[in-house]
Amino acid sequence: MAKKLARKTSRPAPRGSRSAKPVSKPARRASGAGSRESTVARRGGKYVYFFGRKTDGNGSMKPLLGGKGANLAEMCRIGLPVPPGFTITTEVCTYYYANKRTYPPTLRKEMESGVAALEQQTGKKFGDLKNPLLVSVRSGARDSMPGMMDTILNLGLNDQTVDALATKTGNARFAWDCYRRFVQMYGDVVLGVQKRPDEDHEPFETVIEQLKHERYHQDIEDTKLTVDDLKELVVRFKGLIKDRAGKQFPSSPWDQLLGAVGAVFGSWMNDRAIVYRRKYNIPTEWGTAVNVQAMVYGNTGENSGSGVAFTRNPANGVKEFYGEFLINAQGEDVVAGVRTPEPVADLKKAMPKAYAELERIRQTLEKHFKDVQDFEFTIEDGVVYMLQTRNGKRTAMAALKFSIDMQKEKLIDWKTAIMRNPADQLEQLLAPVFDLAEVAKAKAIASGLPAGPGAASGKIYLNAERAVAAADKGEKVLLVRIETSPEDLRGMIAAEGILTARGGVSSHAALVARQMGKVCVCGAAAVDVDYQARTVTVDGRSYKEGDWMSIDGTIGKVYAGQVKTAPSEIVAGLIEGNEEAKKTEKFRNFQQLMKWCADATRMSVRTNADTPEQTANAVAFGAVGIGLTRTEHMFFEGDRIDAMREMILAETLEDRKAALAKLLPYQRDDFAGIFRALKGYPATIRFLDPPLHEFLPHTKEQQAELAKSIGVPAARIHQRVQGLHEFNPMLGFRGCRLGIGYPEISAMQARAVFEAAAIVQKEGIKVRPEIMIPLVAFKKELDLQIEVVHQAAREVQSEQKVKLNYMVGTMIEIPRGALTADEIAQSAEFFSFGTNDLTQTGLGMSRDDSGSFLPHYQELEIVKKNPFATIDDTGVGQLVAIAVTKGRATRPNLKLGICGEHGGDPASIQFFEKVGLDYVSCSPYRVPVARLAAAQAALSTKGGD
Ligand code: ADP
Ligand code: MG
Ligand code: MG
Repeated sequence: MAKKLARKTSRPAPRGSRSAKPVSKPARRASGAGSRESTVARRGGKYVYFFGRKTDGNGSMKPLLGGKGANLAEMCRIGLPVPPGFTITTEVCTYYYANKRTYPPTLRKEMESGVAALEQQTGKKFGDLKNPLLVSVRSGARDSMPGMMDTILNLGLNDQTVDALATKTGNARFAWDCYRRFVQMYGDVVLGVQKRPDEDHEPFETVIEQLKHERYHQDIEDTKLTVDDLKELVVRFKGLIKDRAGKQFPSSPWDQLLGAVGAVFGSWMNDRAIVYRRKYNIPTEWGTAVNVQAMVYGNTGENSGSGVAFTRNPANGVKEFYGEFLINAQGEDVVAGVRTPEPVADLKKAMPKAYAELERIRQTLEKHFKDVQDFEFTIEDGVVYMLQTRNGKRTAMAALKFSIDMQKEKLIDWKTAIMRNPADQLEQLLAPVFDLAEVAKAKAIASGLPAGPGAASGKIYLNAERAVAAADKGEKVLLVRIETSPEDLRGMIAAEGILTARGGVSSHAALVARQMGKVCVCGAAAVDVDYQARTVTVDGRSYKEGDWMSIDGTIGKVYAGQVKTAPSEIVAGLIEGNEEAKKTEKFRNFQQLMKWCADATRMSVRTNADTPEQTANAVAFGAVGIGLTRTEHMFFEGDRIDAMREMILAETLEDRKAALAKLLPYQRDDFAGIFRALKGYPATIRFLDPPLHEFLPHTKEQQAELAKSIGVPAARIHQRVQGLHEFNPMLGFRGCRLGIGYPEISAMQARAVFEAAAIVQKEGIKVRPEIMIPLVAFKKELDLQIEVVHQAAREVQSEQKVKLNYMVGTMIEIPRGALTADEIAQSAEFFSFGTNDLTQTGLGMSRDDSGSFLPHYQELEIVKKNPFATIDDTGVGQLVAIAVTKGRATRPNLKLGICGEHGGDPASIQFFEKVGLDYVSCSPYRVPVARLAAAQAALSTKGGD
């Protein structure tokens, strides 16, 4: 590669060239690069940007200069002490791959003037035998990217210049330390001398270790190696390189430089970089830049050092100087963990002047970048130099505190503060937490998917019944199942947390966990659950029912034994009304953020809730209504399931009505509780939706038990279960098809809603039921059900002598429904997009069966994201957009919402803002996330005005 770069390429220059040769085909075919080339041509083919005394670039040029290069330029512009250098642009990378790994013909010249500028500014000369200039070669994509070539320091050293450096500095040890580091780094990253699969250690480290043992018979610190030791290391390193790479170590500084630059561009296409780009959707065309920068030395002695720091604490957000440093070290030592660094605050004593300078820099950085910076510095003989800065990564907790504090400090405005909180991380703030000291003592035994964030500790139980019994006795319970089903609901409610051996983030366990704010780890494959023996075996060790286990649903870890937890201050304050919690800074900051969100948002946020408790929680989190109550969830609780089963097993209308009459009071009470908890907010109530067989017992024993309790022959139950069997239940007898087949079911549900409404309204609370008919594909389906609802309303209003304010609408979850939305809107007063089913029916893909192919599809990038988690905006999204347009054309004031799982997903919320929905609805503990995401969507859609 070095050769290729050195050799002036004969490939004709891109557009604008006077070359007589015709443009060769391959260059033209590379269309992506072609358009870039024309940009370059317009700019006059500038491939190298200086920074230092004269600075060509600035911080906004990340696409061209990479993140590192753009910010180095920006720091120069604001007068921070940055060693001079130049950036080779990302366009060179693009050119390189578009032109069979060759370079633009003018590059070498530009690099030569780059080096000349460095020489001029430093008074040193590249390869000089009196005062040699050394440089670092650093890769730099737009964002730092694993897989890219590691940095090379001290480039320019060889057997001659090392002596010059020693003489010039009067410090031979330092010079040889630089040289051995350089040979080691260059051998590793450019010449590929790395650990082989059969080796435990890096080969260069092995050489160092051998020498230490030969000469000192023990492991001594690197800083104790003498000049002679270091000289010997250089010799041995070169031998190792010759052996392994079959190449001589290049001694000409220009060969070294060209080789290193070539290696950076080459690393853009290595496997790790490709995999990383695929994972994070980074286009290959972006390319990487290369930075060549004059060295400063942190390894000249006790008055030098190197460190990394944050302008504020990125873990908890506290405004304090945070970071670490090493005395007498070069940059890579700090992260490599060769020596343990010291906290940056200790510099105050060790080097007070340098510390004061760093404090000044810390202030300047924040004032200028207006965000928390993560930066690298080196101190050479007491003088501070800046080598990098970027926006610091942070936890949700730190993000919240940074945003609130910086708004107070007037560094940012409140809208920017909203944008600074990553919506998909906000849930971390609500999760109960493990005591950190306790976790350190615990034993991690397995891991699975982090499905419900937070920490839970409890005695394990393997079925719902025993879990409930134990919880009733006051035990803390962890429900452990192979997977969960609606029958486990009671156990899940009783448990502190849920652990399953199978199932993904959209499995039943995960769904319920999110809705209830339960801690959940699912799909922990190493957990072997034996229902018969009532044991859980992990890695050969067995746990009985009643043994303690703990799970961390934020990271997906399973621990043996008990680990102490506490609820998050935000939950304690909002839901438990804990006054102490309300005084905490975390709570107050959270409330401030939510208030800003309320000011910024256009869409409102409702909740998916089935019980008064869930509803109250959601309202406490700021939900302004229910977007979806799944009435069938109520049928599983207590002995209601028996009445439900009686209804299903009934053979005559009379019997069915009798069973329904038993269910009515339960439903009425549930609805009344929900209406009270809503305090006047609207409630969208969906009528019975799932296929009936889901309510029936499937094992022989359970069927026999049911037969006994409701007094019918077991054979009949068996027969009915068989009769209800469907080949494809998702597309079968369900949704409004049930209500059309058995209008008496809808009539009972409508009556329960209206009777509850009448009761609560008489208590002086406003009630706004919105009855939602599921799975509508034809207007006529909706019309038939609306008539049943109106009939019940008329009856109850006249019986109770009240006037009720209600609406009837439909769920749009079938493509035909979306496409005929103009017709359906003639009858529907509102639409709620059921994006779970709309995705299933729109893609013709069963969510519950997608586990066998969807992960592969994601790997192949057939789908970019799981369409059941983030809405497929180009496909399913069109159905939503069509229904919005057609629906509003018929009925301009049509109310539009979404109640699928996507309602709590920030990326999907962005889409719903764009198509103009009125609200999103999500599970109660997801409400704050949705409020934040909706506010951010409004700000970014409006352009943050
Ligand atoms: P990374 O992206 O892995 O952090 P960097 O290019 O930032 O790689 O460099 C790695 C280390 O080398 C950093 O600690 C940096 O400060 C140090 N370093 C890079 N260039 C120089 C230089 N010109 N002088 C001194 N140290 C440098
Ligand atoms: Mg760095
Ligand atoms: Mg549905």
